[in-house]
Amino acid sequence: MTVAKKVRGFISQSSWIRKMFEEGNVLKKQYGSDNVYDFSLGNPSVEPPVEFKKTLMQIAGEDSSGIHGYMSNAGFLDTRKAVAEFIGREHDVPLSADHVIMTCGAAGALNILFKVFLDPGDEVIIPTPCFMEYRFYVDNANGIATFVKSKADFSLDITAIGNAITERTKILLINSPNNPTGKVYDEASIRELNELLEDRKKAYGRDIYLVSDEPYRDIVYDNTKVPSILKAYRNSVTASSYSKSLSLAGERIGYLAVNPEMTDIEEIVRGLILYNRTLGFVNAPALMQRVIARIQGVKVDVEEYRRKKEILCNGLSSIGYQFIKPEGTFYLFPKTPINDDIEFVRALQKKRILTVPGSGFGWPGYFRIAFCVDDATIINAMAGFEETFKECSQ
Ligand code: PLP
Repeated sequence: MTVAKKVRGFISQSSWIRKMFEEGNVLKKQYGSDNVYDFSLGNPSVEPPVEFKKTLMQIAGEDSSGIHGYMSNAGFLDTRKAVAEFIGREHDVPLSADHVIMTCGAAGALNILFKVFLDPGDEVIIPTPCFMEYRFYVDNANGIATFVKSKADFSLDITAIGNAITERTKILLINSPNNPTGKVYDEASIRELNELLEDRKKAYGRDIYLVSDEPYRDIVYDNTKVPSILKAYRNSVTASSYSKSLSLAGERIGYLAVNPEMTDIEEIVRGLILYNRTLGFVNAPALMQRVIARIQGVKVDVEEYRRKKEILCNGLSSIGYQFIKPEGTFYLFPKTPINDDIEFVRALQKKRILTVPGSGFGWPGYFRIAFCVDDATIINAMAGFEETFKECSQ
């Protein structure tokens, strides 16, 4: 057997999202892409803003030498300065370039972070439902992922999180706005987390770090504010990217921002820079770093996603689907009308509608609809959503 046993296991349980996406591609070949309603992947449908395109063209045309070469593994100083200034203002925390590391997306950011923080067997607590790739990222660093159920309204269950903390807990990882629920954790719950982690630090005599994965921070509705964990808790790190906020998922550009007051910050930052290199990323893409340095604060037109969300929510609720309206992201996470979410998703697939079962997010009995698609896809899929709902409710 060539492939390691663990990898074999992981391949067989690996992402439902990718599985549905691949199956969708087969259906598209068979029926034509207009006849397949693909809500499987969180691939932004809104084009990057014009400012991005203009700046990219401008920079690509500039005639300066060395711009495509290696740079410091943390990223260009100018870029880190620009990001620190903008993020610092947003979070109301005094960040400098020394607190920012440019990464290959949020995924790259989390991978280097876990590598630096985790000794083998250290635990990372992750509230569910969640983006299940986390499990692999934690395993890459030989850590143990401990999943803790959130409340029925998808808010954090602080008591359950407290009960899951052990002397091996090193990190609590939250994701707000949340994939798949669209939930934004409010100020009160972030305050409670702060109290809990300070309390457990006293009990176990070691720091627990709060990491917030925030690639959807800019995609929020109805003036929702995403509270800053950098402001709320000393030992905190934000991982983020421009994958969703600028629709640059394929360009692999993101960052880590570490709290300036964090314990052992200098060594941690040195470790993060080292692992950006040694995990093989080396540095975040040079061209993208130079572009985003000049367009801090620019984001996609969220109104586009808001409109899609309304079309979808109105359509599904009139059929009888039950769900909590998302406060952010471009995902809706309704209950399945039957208990078996996998069976329900398969039934939708027969109508050429591709979604992802809640089981793929550690939350059976629900399914995720990624509404980052054309309006027509949502509108044309409604008949299939209705027929499947009725067939399954009989
Ligand atoms: N975190 C969450 C919650 C995500 O949904 C995703 C991608 O969909 C990522 C991280 C990875 O983001 P990136 O493409 O910036 O690496």
